[in-house]
Amino acid sequence: MSDPLGHRIADLREDLIALTQALIRIPTLNPPGAEYAAVCDLLKTRLEASGFACTLIRATGTPGDSDRYPRWNLIARRDGTRPGPCVHFNSHTDVVEVGQGWTRDPFGAELDDDRIYGRGACDMKGGLAASIIAAEAFLGQHPDFAGAIEISGTADEESGGYGGVAYLAEQGWFSPQRVQHVIIPEPLNKDRICLGHRGGWWAEIETRGEIAHGSMPFLGDCAVRHMGAVLQAFEERLFPAMAARTTDMPVVPEGARQSTMNINAIHGGQPENPPDFDGLPAHCVPDSCRIVIDRRFLIEEGIDAVSSEVIALLDDLKARRPNFDYEIRELNRVLPSMTDRDAPIVTTVAQAIRDTLGQEAAFVASPGSYDQKHIDRIGKLKNCIAYGPGILELAHKPDEWIGVTDMLDSARVMGRTLETLLLND
Ligand SMILES: [Zn+2]
Repeated sequence: MSDPLGHRIADLREDLIALTQALIRIPTLNPPGAEYAAVCDLLKTRLEASGFACTLIRATGTPGDSDRYPRWNLIARRDGTRPGPCVHFNSHTDVVEVGQGWTRDPFGAELDDDRIYGRGACDMKGGLAASIIAAEAFLGQHPDFAGAIEISGTADEESGGYGGVAYLAEQGWFSPQRVQHVIIPEPLNKDRICLGHRGGWWAEIETRGEIAHGSMPFLGDCAVRHMGAVLQAFEERLFPAMAARTTDMPVVPEGARQSTMNINAIHGGQPENPPDFDGLPAHCVPDSCRIVIDRRFLIEEGIDAVSSEVIALLDDLKARRPNFDYEIRELNRVLPSMTDRDAPIVTTVAQAIRDTLGQEAAFVASPGSYDQKHIDRIGKLKNCIAYGPGILELAHKPDEWIGVTDMLDSARVMGRTLETLLLND
């Protein structure tokens, strides 16, 4: 099949590499949320040169926003020559901490054969660069098109998206009146369409005791033993119940097709000594113990059922176990999101994968969440998927990389998607 747009994209290989490298070389670490102004500036300069109207939006007052670390977002829009739908590509610009174990410069963006290395290469500056190349190639090939193309670079996805897509959705930028199709180029592999994600519920549980001398624990009440009873109840009742609940969501990896819970942290008694302190502990019965739980749930479960299941276990312990008392504090909640398999953006990208890569698209859902939750729940925009280059398992790892060929292939899929959605009327 003749594919002039595909050839145009293939010819932009060097440009794609340079753009990806330039993005990686800006260390947009979150936390603290550094360099958002610099990355937005790069995107603005680039996209204005391609005829996009750019708006910079600071998410003032959102978590972490300060004059030192302002939460800047960029939305770029290029209108066509006639009315039609708006296709929006949304990428987060932040990256997670570097961590240990790197053999490459994490912000060097070294090109080695077909790979570009760096923190954020895969998650998700490679996807952002691919969507820009796809849009620019489309505009070069089809100056007369219907509707509009939008590209956004948004803050704070890695810390929940409150200073990014959530803020923009609250301001109306993701309303179905102004945007009709959303592609989030997260690294889900170039032949997979991600329809949505599981929900999450985070809480801190504290058990209480009574301080006493450690040589006479019977005169106090050990909060750590009370927490032990909580953990035992989780092992005997909660974990088996969660394992028995499976979802129809096509979550990958398969282990996440059931309800899961991680215990993030546990702490009881005296605080940890600083590294430079080598004294001995005092002998005390701990009067407080805290855990943080990370409960991931399925679209078939309700958030209220998830929290009340844990509270019912704690109340049961309170009824049965002498002197047991607890407090629970919700830290955050994220509702699941799932786009219909027959939504227009899903069927269009699936056809583009078939036409461009010669294979059937796989449909998946994500075990964790990403910014789709805000587009769905706040923006009320249901026609949204994640589709982008990169290997999901490389995200947040040392020596993270993005494949140049994968970026080009997914840019061709994105370009074909634009042709289908914006040339037809
Ligand atoms: Zn990401």
